[in-house]
Amino acid sequence: MRSRLRTVLVSTVVVVITLTVVAFGGFELMNSRTVQLFGTLVNRVDTDEKVVALTLDDGPSTTTGEVLRTLDEAGVPATFYVTGDEMAEHPDLGRAIVDAGHELGNHTASHRRMVFVGPGTVADEIERTDAEIRAAGYDGEITFRPPYGKKLITLPRYLDQHDRTTVTWDVEPDSVSADTDVDTIVRTAVEQTRPGSIILLHVMYPSRAASLAAIPGIVAALRADGYRFVTVSEMLAN
Ligand code: ZN
Repeated sequence: MRSRLRTVLVSTVVVVITLTVVAFGGFELMNSRTVQLFGTLVNRVDTDEKVVALTLDDGPSTTTGEVLRTLDEAGVPATFYVTGDEMAEHPDLGRAIVDAGHELGNHTASHRRMVFVGPGTVADEIERTDAEIRAAGYDGEITFRPPYGKKLITLPRYLDQHDRTTVTWDVEPDSVSADTDVDTIVRTAVEQTRPGSIILLHVMYPSRAASLAAIPGIVAALRADGYRFVTVSEMLAN
């Protein structure tokens, strides 16, 4: 059932980099949601079972309390890809996410673009964020999501060497434009979701009120269609 999208496994780094860059182009490779040079990248899980994971990027921030209330009312778990810097700023909010039974994932410390960065920077960004996530009391697997979905060489190498799974998404209903309305977000999410989908929403800032307001509608419509909401690591274990 599970099929992690295996990326190119390398024995001869230079050859593979060259071939892949030729095949996909460096730019597409950097931005690809399904291809990564090293390690495991998942953008959805291949299954016939109607399971779906809701993932929420960035934060925690001042809107986190409202996000948690919305999820509680909808009765769904979510996976929060948080940044280490914002976790350090709002340790109480990080703990509140964990206490509510949700999952935490690593979205780097500073949310910088993780391309053309050295190995020291990669390790620092990821390890500082892991430490904040653990300090919040989360003890499950910590998957990783690159800011802006961007990665090229140094980042995937680190993730591979540390046996970390990169998680992107296959449903992105609020990224079409910054002012996508609630109905459009709900409709897009429902249209694009299939068994094993990973939905990305940005709900962490006041400017993203429409995304937050779309959660009840997305949950109701997908449930009516027989879907069950799970966290990312539950989905990966499927
Ligand atoms: Zn982000």
